[in-house]
Amino acid sequence: MLLVAVGRMPFTEGLGLEGTKIKVEKGFIQVDEYQQTAEKGVYAIGDVVPTPLLAHLASKEGIVAVEHMAGQKDVRPINLRLVPNCTYCDPEVASVGLTEAKAKEQGYDVKIGKFPMSASGKARDPWRRRRLCEDRQREESMTRYSACTSLARTRPS
Ligand SMILES: Cc1cc2nc3c(=O)[nH]c(=O)nc-3n(C[C@H](O)[C@H](O)[C@H](O)COP(=O)(O)OP(=O)(O)OC[C@H]3O[C@@H](n4cnc5c(N)ncnc54)[C@H](O)[C@@H]3O)c2cc1C
Repeated sequence: MLLVAVGRMPFTEGLGLEGTKIKVEKGFIQVDEYQQTAEKGVYAIGDVVPTPLLAHLASKEGIVAVEHMAGQKDVRPINLRLVPNCTYCDPEVASVGLTEAKAKEQGYDVKIGKFPMSASGKARDPWRRRRLCEDRQREESMTRYSACTSLARTRPS
C-alpha cells in the first residue's frame, strides 16, 4: 500500500463567516498579532490562519489568544522568525531560521558547519551514531536568530 499525503490547506468553508466582518484570503482567516479577527471577540489560531502549519505554533497561538481575551497586560506576540520547524518523524528533525537557499537569496555570505552527532555525548546512542547536526551560520554575525540550525535528535525520549 502506498500513501501519498501532499500539501495541506485551511478548511474554513461552512463556518458561517460570510455574514461577519472576518476577512478570509485564500481560505485563511486574517488575524492580528494577538490572533484577533476583524470581528470583535472572535479569535482564530492554527491551520486556519496564514502562519506556518505547525502543531507547536498552533498551541502557542492558542495561548496568545487566550491570554489576550483574558485581558492579560503583557501578552507577547509570536516572533515568526524564531518558530522552529519540528518534524515528528524518527529520528525527530528540527530547523530554525533562514535556510541556506533563503540566506543566499537575501545576500548573506553563508558559512556551513557540520557537527557529527557521534561526538556529542548527549546525542550518543549505540544504534544511530552517524546522524549529523548541521549549523549554517551567517558569516558576519554569529547570531543564531538568523542562522539555520538543523538538528536530528537521536535519543528516544
Ligand atoms: C500528516 C501530517 C503530518 C504533520 N506533521 C507535522 C509535524 O511533523 N510537525 C508539526 O509541527 N506539525 C505537523 N503537522 C501539522 C499539525 O498537525 C497541525 O499544524 C496542527 O494539528 C494544527 O492544529 P489546529 O488546532 O489548527 O488543527 P487540528 O489539529 O486539525 O484541529 C482542528 C480540530 O477541529 C475539528 N473541526 C474541524 N471542523 C470543525 C467544525 N466545523 N466544528 C467543530 N470542530 C471542527 C477537527 O475535527 C479537529 O479536531 C502535520 C499534519 C499532518 C496532516
